[in-house]
Amino acid sequence: MNILVINAGSSSLKYQLMDPDTGWVSAKGLCERIGIDGRLTHRIPAKGEKVSRDIPMPTHSEAISAVLDILVDERYGVIKSLDEVDAVGHRVLHGGDKFVESCIINEACKQAIRDCIPLGPLHNPANLKGIEACEKVMPGKPQVAVFDTAFHMTMPPKAYRYAIPTKYYEEDHLRRYGFHGTSHRFVSKRAIELMGKPASELKIIVCHLGNGSSLSAVADGKCQDTSMGLSPLAGLPMGTRSGDIDTCVAQFIMNKYNLSADQCLNMLNKQSGVLALSNGLSSDFRDLESAAKEGNEACQLALDKFCYETRKYIGAYAAALGGLDCLVFTAGVGENGSTNRANICKGLEFMGVKIDPERNKVRGEEALISTDDSKVKVWVIPTNEELMIAQDTAELCGK
Ligand code: ADP
Repeated sequence: MNILVINAGSSSLKYQLMDPDTGWVSAKGLCERIGIDGRLTHRIPAKGEKVSRDIPMPTHSEAISAVLDILVDERYGVIKSLDEVDAVGHRVLHGGDKFVESCIINEACKQAIRDCIPLGPLHNPANLKGIEACEKVMPGKPQVAVFDTAFHMTMPPKAYRYAIPTKYYEEDHLRRYGFHGTSHRFVSKRAIELMGKPASELKIIVCHLGNGSSLSAVADGKCQDTSMGLSPLAGLPMGTRSGDIDTCVAQFIMNKYNLSADQCLNMLNKQSGVLALSNGLSSDFRDLESAAKEGNEACQLALDKFCYETRKYIGAYAAALGGLDCLVFTAGVGENGSTNRANICKGLEFMGVKIDPERNKVRGEEALISTDDSKVKVWVIPTNEELMIAQDTAELCGK
């Protein structure tokens, strides 16, 4: 069975053709510079092959057409005809409070995604373009939308409401939504399997630490709280995002430097985080680690701040859950950054978190990294959002 997983951005589109039962990826790739000129990079993982082509992509439709063409290409194709694509699964950023789970795409679903544009102004329009482009070039093919926010919709009001006047919630839907939900769902589901206990007996904290980072507190398999908010800017300091700051910092900067709200938000989203703390050296944690090893104090501070804030969230969420059975690390830094994992967990021994230094050397593989006598089991679990999207798509399309 073949599910085409699409992640459409404003000028790019990532895709994977995968089997939802085995997770086998027969082809994957990226369309870039949509609306500018257009470039397709296509990979066949099993053969270790990669091909790049310049193809005009004035809109997302041409990008999708280019993807479909190469999937059936004589030389680089992996299927004989498009009939072999059973359905298409789309990653959609913002489902607002309308979507608690994935849904088959129809007019009502598209309208709901459109209604959420004010909440996800950068991503939702691009996600819709990806959906409409597929409808155009593959009419009648079943399509499913999988929302980054959906997993977090089980949060109670005390977690998702902001302490601001009610009209902003009731009329404008301003509340905590949370993101990376597909990853948090995939990883927490796998953690429950690995722990070998019923979900109802497990309190789990998932640390999705990548370029963008977020934590979630999970009890009974359901999200109870998460660190991102109305937008992905909230929570931890990230590659280029500030994470939580006092709103008055923004007001001060806007007033003194005569910045508009959009300009200030752009700075907080794109020029802040560990990039800013490292004095602009890098937003990549590998660069920060090597510079810190050579004595760069700004990079060391960036790493210390990141680990400190993550540790604080773990403490807060353990308190919110009333205990902790399982701590999980995932995404680029979480799966690979053994030094960061060790630093984050340092000082958490008092609440039963004990990392085994040998086991913690693991990179990019599923592994238990806590000691045998650690009360809290600490796992590295590689995330796979595409597989989760493919599985939801297959299930909803009745395959
Ligand atoms: P995105 O949020 O873009 O999906 P990823 O989950 O791919 O991000 O994570 C990217 C981050 O993971 C980068 O900052 C990168 O430095 C970090 N990373 C990747 N490999 C390692 C490693 N071996 N050690 C530390 N950090 C790593």
